[in-house]
This record gives sequence, structure tokens and C-alpha cells, in this order.
Amino acid sequence: MDIRFDDKTAIVTGGASGIGLAIAKQLAKSGARVVLADLDHDKTKAAADAMGHGALAFVADVTKPDAVAALVAFAQEKTGALNLMVNNAGIGGPIAPLGTYEIAEWRKVIDVNLNGVFYGMRYAIPAITAAGGGAIVNIASILGAVGFAGAGAYVAAKHAVLGMTKTAALDHAGDGVRVNAVGPGFIHTPLVDSGLDADAQKALAGQHALGRMGQPDEVASLVCYLLSDHASFITGSYHLVDGGYTAQ
Ligand code: NAP
Repeated sequence: MDIRFDDKTAIVTGGASGIGLAIAKQLAKSGARVVLADLDHDKTKAAADAMGHGALAFVADVTKPDAVAALVAFAQEKTGALNLMVNNAGIGGPIAPLGTYEIAEWRKVIDVNLNGVFYGMRYAIPAITAAGGGAIVNIASILGAVGFAGAGAYVAAKHAVLGMTKTAALDHAGDGVRVNAVGPGFIHTPLVDSGLDADAQKALAGQHALGRMGQPDEVASLVCYLLSDHASFITGSYHLVDGGYTAQ
């Protein structure tokens, strides 16, 4: 299957690292004009420069609605239109039982992983509609479908992303905007490497039926398919790429 995004503009939030970077690279290689949005200026610019294919960098904190609005305006201004949006930026948050979860940490995780996805859709949808339609993928997690001890805020945010994805798909089907969510299992990225020690990673790898964690590119392939016209009848749904984690 030949997936092409020629003449399409795509924003990837959290695009300077891990899964977002892999998605951005596959989009760029397939002809898209990619705008990478992330927190750190130097990291984002370095990632865009290394990617080539005219990729652009923009510093935006997805918890700030004005910054997300500016990001969408930047993509429109620089490339003429916005066609594709990947709401990928996310954080893990601390591991702690719900009964003692720090309120400030709860708010932070919800702000990035849930509110950030809302702001991304809130500003991208009018722009994509104005461009004649397109597609959005929200990066959820297997933890949008099942619980995980100690990760109450993350699990709550990712479950909510699924509900928001379905509703956005219904609200905007008539505008030609398809909206889907992707649920990765545990994937080798800086998020996992910084949050889990080697023993924890080994134990988690064994919980996937395939006996290993995934790679960012394995998530990116699914995301690019969902963004492409090959997925023209797919909207409002949740797609796992989890090595069989939730099949058990
Ligand atoms: P990652 O390597 O840490 O990359 C995430 C990127 O997002 C980082 O560059 C990070 O910047 C950036 N970011 C964090 N907060 C942001 C904000 N407020 N605004 C804009 N950018 C922000 O993580 P990843 O593993 O690729 O995760 C990407 C997405 O996949 C997340 O939504 C995550 O929940 C989801 N996911 C990951 C896994 C996994 O096992 N890795 C599994 C399921 C789902 P800093 O580094 O400067 O913080």
C-alpha cells in the first residue's frame, strides 16, 4: 500500500521525541509538510532540521490554548492550510495510589494528556474544515482501555481521550474531518526509559503477548494509515498497537 501525503500539511504535537518524532518522520518521508510542535526550542528545531523535507519547528505548550491557536495559525500561514493533526504530546506523571495522589500532579497530567488534546482539536478542526476536510489522530494508550495501578491520572486522561475522540468524530463527520484514537502498548521511548527502571521494563515487556515492548515506528505506521485516504471509512474509533497486551 502506497501511503502519500503530497500537498498536505500535518502538525504533530510532542513531535521532537519518541512516538511523535517517528510519526513526523514517516509523514515527512511520505510527502507531508510537517510542523513539529514541542516544548524545548533547541530540541524541536534540531529534530525538524534533521528531518529535512521542509519540516518546520514551533514551540508550543499544549496546555496553553493561545499557544495551540498560534501553532495552528503558524501552520496555515507557512503552508497555506492545515489538513492533518496528531495530538501526541503527553506525560506519564508520578506513580502513586489514587488515595494519596498529589492534587497538583493530577492537574498537570490531566492538563497535558486531556486538555492538551482538546485544545489541539479545538483549534485544528476549524482549520481542517476550512481546508476542505482531513484527519486527526489522538494518541491515547492501552491505558485508555484498562487500568494500571498507580497511574490514576494518566489512565483517567487516556480513557477520556477516547470519549472525546468519538464525540469529535460525530460532531465533525459532516465537515469531512475524521477523528480516531490510537492505543499503543509500552513503547521504547524517552518517556518509558525515564519513568521505569530496567527491571520494570523487563516485567512490562513480558506482559505483551509478543514478549517485548514496541518501537515508535510500529505506532507511526498505524497513525499514518489512519491519517491517509486509505482509511476513508474509519472515524470515531480506537485502534490498538499493543503487541497483544489487552488481548489477555
Ligand atoms: P516522549 O518521548 O516523552 O515524547 C513526548 C514529547 O512531548 C516530549 O518531547 C515532551 O517534551 C513533549 N511534551 C510534554 N509535555 C508537553 C506539552 N505540554 N506541550 C508540548 N509538548 C509536550 O513520550 P512518548 O513515549 O513518545 O509519548 C508520546 C505519546 O504517546 C504520549 O501521549 C504518551 O502518553 C503516549 N503513549 C506512550 C507510550 C509509551 O510506552 N511510550 C504508550 C502509550 C501511549 P519534554 O521531553 O521536554 O517533556
